Amino acid sequence: MEHFSPSRAAGLERLEAFLPRAGRRYQRDRNFDFGPDRRGNVSCLSPWLSHRLLSDWEVVQAALDAHGHTAAEKFVDEVMWRTYWRGWLEQHRQVWDDYQAALSAPVPAALEKAVARATAGQTGIECFDAWADELTRYGYLHNHARMWFASIWVFTLRLPWEQGADWFLRHLVDGDAASNTLSWRWVAGLQTVGKTYLAREDNIRRFSEGRFSETPGLAQSAGQLPDVERPALNAVEHQRDVIDGRAVFLLTETDLFRPELDVGCEIAAVGSLSLRRFKSDRPLGDVADSFSDGALADAAARLSDRFGVGDSSSLADVSEVVAFASDQGASSVVMSRCPVGPGRTQIDELAERLANAGIRFKEVSRRWDEMCWPFCRKGFFQFRRQIPEIVADLSQFPGA
Ligand SMILES: Cc1cc2nc3c(=O)[nH]c(=O)nc-3n(C[C@H](O)[C@H](O)[C@H](O)COP(=O)(O)OP(=O)(O)OC[C@H]3O[C@@H](n4cnc5c(N)ncnc54)[C@H](O)[C@@H]3O)c2cc1C
Repeated sequence: MEHFSPSRAAGLERLEAFLPRAGRRYQRDRNFDFGPDRRGNVSCLSPWLSHRLLSDWEVVQAALDAHGHTAAEKFVDEVMWRTYWRGWLEQHRQVWDDYQAALSAPVPAALEKAVARATAGQTGIECFDAWADELTRYGYLHNHARMWFASIWVFTLRLPWEQGADWFLRHLVDGDAASNTLSWRWVAGLQTVGKTYLAREDNIRRFSEGRFSETPGLAQSAGQLPDVERPALNAVEHQRDVIDGRAVFLLTETDLFRPELDVGCEIAAVGSLSLRRFKSDRPLGDVADSFSDGALADAAARLSDRFGVGDSSSLADVSEVVAFASDQGASSVVMSRCPVGPGRTQIDELAERLANAGIRFKEVSRRWDEMCWPFCRKGFFQFRRQIPEIVADLSQFPGA
């Protein structure tokens, strides 16, 4: 498996290399998981997209330019899934809060052991154990393997989906709260009422191209599905007003796409704060950790260069951000909008602490999110109907 290099330049290179395959070939072959050494049928762009080192809209634009609307349709749809999941979770925060609450509940010792066995790849289910090892080693799994893995976790091993989702989120180099949480919920039958995803032996054999030819003992049914309550819809506000005065720009790993484009003010200093890493009792996997770190450093260097402000500062927590802003004599702290996910509570705390210190705080929304999210309140297929209109004029989105 190739190494994921955490810079925007490396993401652009990967995009350029993949583009010739983003048309009909992607549509035909994308579901095959040929193993870590043969990933040419999928883009492997997710680490850059999830950190927004590359933007959803520039990748869509590049695919449309290369293949036109018909041949690029499948690839564009897949990229739009990420946009959709983010918009959906943003407007159903309760789902994230409930998931976090379930994770905080005490875990019986037997369950803890079973989770440890599964994540160490010691279940005796050959394919599952191989994927556990692959994820730990490379920080990446093919989409189909993620679906099979989550399904076996939930229906065959009968483990709580929340524990599996948390382990994925901490080990995936593309760990993305929305895509991950909602995909796990979808597999488990919680996202689309009455629908579950059941991994089947013949499907695994076919789409792993025979690498896993026998998988006996898989659950044959999803069993009794839990009652699903429709989660509450919450409003989302977008900030766009221009700030004047001396501002600190705060980078977090959830949105590193050319941050200067949407800022609307001069920047006096740049700080970065890792939001993925904040729970020390649930550490990130090594590959994920080092990619996130490198991605933050890459964006910090670009931004500091653009505003001519010298080296950026790496900040450990909210207190350090407040102290940094005060030391810089800043009247404002600005950042790209932090989505619902790990660290959102830290950003809410930061807003309060800055207000107490008399420093304004602004999270700038991306025009793309502002335009797409209103269509992300129901199912993907309703959102999909809007895609032609959304992509009709991508030049309206900065940096496309
Ligand atoms: C249980 C489970 C957990 C997942 N967790 C994550 C996660 O934490 N982070 C993450 O980025 N993706 C997640 N996905 C979605 C998907 O598996 C990955 O985005 C995809 O496999 C990344 O590989 P790629 O870039 O080669 O994808 P490609 O097939 O080349 O697709 C191109 C791009 O489209 C987007 N995309 C493709 N499939 C999906 C999808 N099903 N949902 C959302 N976006 C998609 C990604 O941005 C991807 O980079 C998860 C899926 C499942 C089933």
